[in-house]
Amino acid sequence: MNRVLVLILLSWSSGLLAEALQPELERLSKVVQMKTVSHQDPSNMDAAPFHDFEAAVRDFYPRTFSELEVTMISEHSFLLKWQGSDQNLKPVLVDAHYDVVPVEPGTEDDWNFEPYSGAVENGYVLGRGTIDMKSPAMATFEAIEKLLIAGHQPTRTLYYSLGHDEEIGGRNGAAKIAEHLKEQGVTFEYMLGEGGIALDSHPLLPGRQVVMVNLAQKGFVTLTLSTTGEGGHSSSPTEDNSLVRLAEAVSKLHRQPFDPKLVSPVSDMLESIGNMRGGVMGFALKNQWLTSPFLIDQLSSDRLTRSMVITTTAVTMFNAGVKENVIPQRAEAKVNFRLLPGDTKETLIADVKAIIDDPEVTVEAASDWNVIPQVADMNALGYELIKESVAEILPDAAVIPGLLIATTDTKHYEDLAENVYHFQPMFIAMEDASGIHGTNERVRVDAYLESLRLAESTIRTITSQ
Ligand SMILES: [Zn+2]
Repeated sequence: MNRVLVLILLSWSSGLLAEALQPELERLSKVVQMKTVSHQDPSNMDAAPFHDFEAAVRDFYPRTFSELEVTMISEHSFLLKWQGSDQNLKPVLVDAHYDVVPVEPGTEDDWNFEPYSGAVENGYVLGRGTIDMKSPAMATFEAIEKLLIAGHQPTRTLYYSLGHDEEIGGRNGAAKIAEHLKEQGVTFEYMLGEGGIALDSHPLLPGRQVVMVNLAQKGFVTLTLSTTGEGGHSSSPTEDNSLVRLAEAVSKLHRQPFDPKLVSPVSDMLESIGNMRGGVMGFALKNQWLTSPFLIDQLSSDRLTRSMVITTTAVTMFNAGVKENVIPQRAEAKVNFRLLPGDTKETLIADVKAIIDDPEVTVEAASDWNVIPQVADMNALGYELIKESVAEILPDAAVIPGLLIATTDTKHYEDLAENVYHFQPMFIAMEDASGIHGTNERVRVDAYLESLRLAESTIRTITSQ
């Protein structure tokens, strides 16, 4: 093709892009294209996209990176500090992450678009990470930059931590950021972290915008079950077989789930919804002294809500035997539990031992990676300010407390923050929620624009008092 024609075409198409896309959308689109993937084996990490991300945000947000104190932790995680004028106020922490989960091998063909496309098409920004959680991470940067430009002066000091390995536990990111903060003697009045979003509707409040503020995430405990036996040659088997003994123990645990119960903050969630609903349902949700057996029954019979009323048991690993003709002397299994608030590692181990009822099976915590989060106070400042920020942008939205079923990086900050609220400035359509860790992850353009406004009102509000 004629060179001049090519040049004209190029400038025409880039001009078209620049015209069609708001700069905020273009910036989100660019970072979605960066494959900041966390692999289960960290040695598979490709550092280049993480460097690209860092270079991009430094370029996108010049005021933020020159006026805030920036510390890079473990090379790729960010800790930003925006100094407030009132030294007597404890700082507030906002936490996010910018790594994403891989596209599950074999599911590529189920995607309707290239998984890291970043394209802005038909009213959507497309690609892995748009929801989990580059949108809120970028919205937070956008808010800080915009507020700096507007001359906003924080009264309360803000920290913004942005981890790079949340999807594999945050050992190098959030855990190291928390260590660094601890060394500096920094503690927080409260923190806002991943796991609570604004939705355009909610199954229990149809047609109403709902902002979930989760007051706790479930506890995460893995127990190792082990047993030893005589072992020996399989040609003359003994009665005593470690593998069989352990299999029986594991199977008892699997067959005997813990009793469901209704505890805070799930009870608070139902009560809040009850206060907004009339009729029989509203009555039932508000009068739990009377209806809790019914509510527990309802919630535990649906797989989606079951985890809200039960400490779950999942047998995940079994390790025994090295050779087909040798009876193993030792067998080991790992069982992962997600604890309801109120349950502790000690009560769990006692319960598990009682269910197994076999003194030959040893039960111990698999690692120190066991966190029992506290339930945050919904009458404290942080919750009030979340409500205030939301009311400014989504005046009709119902703010509802809840329990986060999944585990996030906030666990690393449990000791540093008085109250941990799972709330991120993120507005999504209910129908797009399934994209999280799944196929066809995407965020609606208008929802992202709403998220930008929510992030700005949140950062302004929490730094102002
Ligand atoms: Zn996430």
